[in-house]
Amino acid sequence: MSSVAKEWREIPGRYNLEGSKCPCCGKVYFPKRNMCPVCRRESIGKMEPYSISRKGEVYTFSIIHDAPDFTTKLKPYAVAMVKTTDGIMISAQLVDVDPADVRIGMPVRAVLRKIKTDGPDGVIHYGYKFVPDE
Ligand SMILES: [Zn+2]
Repeated sequence: MSSVAKEWREIPGRYNLEGSKCPCCGKVYFPKRNMCPVCRRESIGKMEPYSISRKGEVYTFSIIHDAPDFTTKLKPYAVAMVKTTDGIMISAQLVDVDPADVRIGMPVRAVLRKIKTDGPDGVIHYGYKFVPDE
């Protein structure tokens, strides 16, 4: 059994996005924060864990044409501001979709994807991205 397969197996099949909610003003933050930038001192140590819906729709988006140098040719990709079903705005990359097909209002859901692998031991980092949700 390779370590890659083990890593994947340990990721729960169902999960929500973990954010935090300010008990003073009720605002929800993602990624989670230790302090509400609005309420500041009042919110320190009081931020509550908040489970954000994985489902949402594309609120706005832009197509990124990333070309680090002349020898590398990367496909353009879409970065979207997603409004989740509970009304939280999350900025993330859209994957598994042709950027030309991205539309405002398109239903999407968050998935955990490999972002990069570090060093000889192959420590794998994961992050949230959004895919079309049919
Ligand atoms: Zn607050």
